[in-house]
Amino acid sequence: MIKKKLIKIIDNISQKKITDVFLDLIDVDTVFLNYHRVLSNDEFQNTNRPDDDLVVSAQIFDKQVNYLKKNFEVISINDILQKRDKKRKVVITFDDGYLDNLKNALPILEKYNCPAIIYIATSFLDNKMVPWWLKLWKIIYSQKKIVYNDKSYEIIEKKDKKNIYNLLSKKFLLLNKSQQDTLLDEFLDHKHKEQININEFLSSENLKDLGDNDLIEIGCHTHTHPNLKILNKKEIHKEIINSVNILENIIKKKINHFSIPYGSKNCFDDKIIQQLSEYNFKTIVTTEHDIFKKNNCNKIPRIGIGNLDINGRLHRKSVGIDSILNKIFRR
Ligand SMILES: [Zn+2]
Repeated sequence: MIKKKLIKIIDNISQKKITDVFLDLIDVDTVFLNYHRVLSNDEFQNTNRPDDDLVVSAQIFDKQVNYLKKNFEVISINDILQKRDKKRKVVITFDDGYLDNLKNALPILEKYNCPAIIYIATSFLDNKMVPWWLKLWKIIYSQKKIVYNDKSYEIIEKKDKKNIYNLLSKKFLLLNKSQQDTLLDEFLDHKHKEQININEFLSSENLKDLGDNDLIEIGCHTHTHPNLKILNKKEIHKEIINSVNILENIIKKKINHFSIPYGSKNCFDDKIIQQLSEYNFKTIVTTEHDIFKKNNCNKIPRIGIGNLDINGRLHRKSVGIDSILNKIFRR
């Protein structure tokens, strides 16, 4: 409640004033923005998703990048340690490696000459492995009923589908790959037993093209996108080494940056950060909400950007206000 009121007050102050007041108050220099998908306008209108805050339409992405270009310095993740100057800075990041990053986001980044980093979960490349969240939503979306823990849930209305998706997502985060697969298989009713066909990720060839593009940096997002907290040290090592090797073989460049799968405190802790720091990544990003400090590149906070984030909302997020409010009020 207090948070909502504060946001309202802040939104009502002119954007320039917020930046000035804010700059004086808190030492925020660079803010990391986190995207996942940029859908074509048609796809955006015509597809159903459980998680709208992770998806933007190409039209909105164009508006957002245009706004960022005009009001901020959009910098490469490789330039985050440069000397501080007056201009506010943002880094654009994408997670997972969706094909739409190449098809829909890249042309807009090129139009405004803005750099970005794309973190790839290498088992998704060439659609070899489909992440559980896409399969789960496809099952929930196509069925009218789902049985879980011997309880049958009627899922006809869209809001019921979203509710069960959110409930099950929390559960899936804590399972290993084979437990997830078993559960997905149980959910599928007879009518839908045919193979779920999902082709939404970059191919190795696409990745090579992105790696050759001067605006794009490629980062590692593990191989199978696990919750690192449920893996042991050896398993984490395998996830990283596998993924870095695959990426370096394809793009023929060194991989210097890492994004923690899911990125929130449920999925990493200080021990994991300690292990990750042994791989000499220049940066490790999370989805925790905080202020980025240049002396801590092993746990960089990011703020998610969705389709509703334009003008004032985008501005607030890009100067770091939302990250701080979310930290204070424990989102
Ligand atoms: Zn991810």
